Amino acid sequence: MQCVTSTAFGPAELLHRLRARGGGATVSPVTHIERVPAREGRTAPWPAWTDPVVRAAFAAQGISAPWEHQAAAATLAREGTHVVLATGTASGKSLAYQLPALDALVTDPRATVLYLSPTKALAADQLRNLVRLGLDGVRPATYDGDTPREEREWIRQHSRFVLTNPDMLHHSILPGHGRWGVFLRRLRYVVIDECHTYRGVFGSHVAHVLRRLRRATARYGASPTFVLASATSGDPAGSASRLTGLPVTEITSDASPRGAITFALWEPPLLEPVSEDASPIRRSALRETADLLTDAVVAGTRTIAFVRSRRGAEVIASAARQSLDEAVPGLGDRVAAYRGGYLREDRRAIERALLSGELLGLASTNALELGVDLTGLDAVLICGYPGTRASLWQQAGRAGRGGDEALAVLVARDDPLDTYLVHHPEAVFGRPVEATVLDPGNPYVLGPQLCSAASEAPLTDADLELFGDPAGEIARQLVAEGVLRRRPSGYYWIHRGRPEVDLRGTGGAPVSVVEAATGRLLGTVDHGSSHAMLHPGAVYLHQGVSYLVDDLDLEDAIALVHQEEPDWTTHARDVTNLSVVNVRSYVDAGPVGLFLGEVDVTNQVVSYQRRRIGSGEVIDTRPLDLPVRELRTVAVWFTVSPKALTAAGVEASEFPGALHAAEHAGIGLLPLIATCDRWDIGGLSTANHADTEAPTVFVYDGHPGGAGFAERAYGTAPEWLRATREAIASCGCDAGCPSCVQSPKCGNGNNPLNKEDAVKVLDTVLAALGGSQRSLSIS
Ligand SMILES: [Zn+2]
Ligand SMILES: [Zn+2]
Repeated sequence: MQCVTSTAFGPAELLHRLRARGGGATVSPVTHIERVPAREGRTAPWPAWTDPVVRAAFAAQGISAPWEHQAAAATLAREGTHVVLATGTASGKSLAYQLPALDALVTDPRATVLYLSPTKALAADQLRNLVRLGLDGVRPATYDGDTPREEREWIRQHSRFVLTNPDMLHHSILPGHGRWGVFLRRLRYVVIDECHTYRGVFGSHVAHVLRRLRRATARYGASPTFVLASATSGDPAGSASRLTGLPVTEITSDASPRGAITFALWEPPLLEPVSEDASPIRRSALRETADLLTDAVVAGTRTIAFVRSRRGAEVIASAARQSLDEAVPGLGDRVAAYRGGYLREDRRAIERALLSGELLGLASTNALELGVDLTGLDAVLICGYPGTRASLWQQAGRAGRGGDEALAVLVARDDPLDTYLVHHPEAVFGRPVEATVLDPGNPYVLGPQLCSAASEAPLTDADLELFGDPAGEIARQLVAEGVLRRRPSGYYWIHRGRPEVDLRGTGGAPVSVVEAATGRLLGTVDHGSSHAMLHPGAVYLHQGVSYLVDDLDLEDAIALVHQEEPDWTTHARDVTNLSVVNVRSYVDAGPVGLFLGEVDVTNQVVSYQRRRIGSGEVIDTRPLDLPVRELRTVAVWFTVSPKALTAAGVEASEFPGALHAAEHAGIGLLPLIATCDRWDIGGLSTANHADTEAPTVFVYDGHPGGAGFAERAYGTAPEWLRATREAIASCGCDAGCPSCVQSPKCGNGNNPLNKEDAVKVLDTVLAALGGSQRSLSIS
């Protein structure tokens, strides 16, 4: 490879240069430096059971022996043990399932394998690998929405390795199981790739699609072994077991080789407030990343900056280009932006330019994460925590070429989770705690799924057990509602056609944002956020262009907008009420109570504020006329007695602000323990709640019936709340900022908030829970 750059800097030297930029700053932006050492790969011999033909096929691809974790997982699967392999990016998870699967296909000419992936791109990639192995008689094929009708019949009849996705399984294969009878009867393995992506409501749906698959295979007399591949996570076996409904053994020890990385955690400095009463803000992570990219390019380092949004990528690239051109005219040309949505040729051209050294800096969305093989960079800048550790390491893993040491820098955004992480390196580099959660017991998921199952074949009592609690109760309800009919042989779907079930349904159609003058569809906003984001008068940003909402038609789920650049922003205000329906589980910790249960939440967006851009000055508050929305969901909540709060030094007048601040930070930190987005959850705090009769903080799943997030928070409450406390306490601001207790989605305009007293509230809760940890060991 020709390389026109001559980087004289190792990662330590480069980091030193980047830090020097701060100049007079009193506090170093670098909060931690971790040196992740290189790891030698550990191979294992091919398992003795491997057919020589399969072994030869892998050898022809240059694979002389499997890594230890691949061999271990493959052998478990071959013995009929359901297994999940949860190891790092590029650790070769594919071989672990290809080995037993292909061995079965080669040694038994009738056997079949079903492979499920979350994306068509990944399935296509897997197909290419299988075809390259060139094994006779396997006839691998993808079967998805793009597969032409005429090919489908051939695939059903002849393919023995079918690659598809959960949607296709749900909409096509299971309803048409009769035509798949031969394939299902011979099914030996079900492979579930990237299984950590099945989370929340979607994950709960997929869990039942898999139970329907197990029921169908059982009817045809097969009992396939499930092999799952996952990113590293807190509880891979537990999550895989919830997903499949089967006992699953985990393999987590990664024996693949890896280059050394110097990993720095970086917190942008707090800026001097513009006026006395303005809240303090940090230098934005985008600006900070743009400057780091500039310095890296000046130093001749090939660097990629990852950022969450397309707009962010454009901002970083153009800011870096500008400063480079100011330093050396023409140098700006060596930086580009890269994002999903570019044409394939454009993407390839950018990749080539980066590899040749013609380009030195790239600002990218996560578009690079899947599929495209671009490695061998000197440095990776990560602008804001990408949400999961898996993504973080996927991005950091782009750095390092030819075994050279590489540099990765995580630049914290103005957000409590990012703040926590840059001050708690063990959460980034230690044992993962974040788990993939889903809730197959969600009645809003279970009901439609039971209907789908019944339409495939009548549901017997034994079937109901397969679907788990509360399937029996739901089935009886569906009978009462006239949806199913009970006969001696089971529950029957009695309607024409199939039930309409959307696996990704989150309660309500997404709202389309349409430019009124042109009829152009700009984008969609999910049903849940539509009232707050698209109310009449709202400013809606789309790829950096500002629009004003003229009309929100809830019936047709359309918002009409026109382009306008006002000098204000809009902030919706809402009123939320919550009542407790039942308590599923609780911990009595003296002055503190911790609860998990069902709640009814009503929410109404009632008005919005217009605020001047720059100063944040409130121009006016305008009323809105939007309907109340109701949500029955699952919540976790804690109560603290007023006496205990007073004893901790919180004055009664400060209860609301202290609880509110603790609620915001708690929601912000939940993604640390469960893979969710802060937008997936809601909260409510009050100095005296009618149902609990005490100062209370509620955190609830934002989807009907719950998605597993609140449940995970309940199960790991001490860990979650300790991290919340730390995030608040370690923030350098005086009275609360977006990095700790302010929330971008607060319906009360972040008022009142008391940062200092929030720490006291959480200390009180943690002290009490600490004394009752034994009772917390619920499953
Ligand atoms: Zn702060
Ligand atoms: Zn709030």
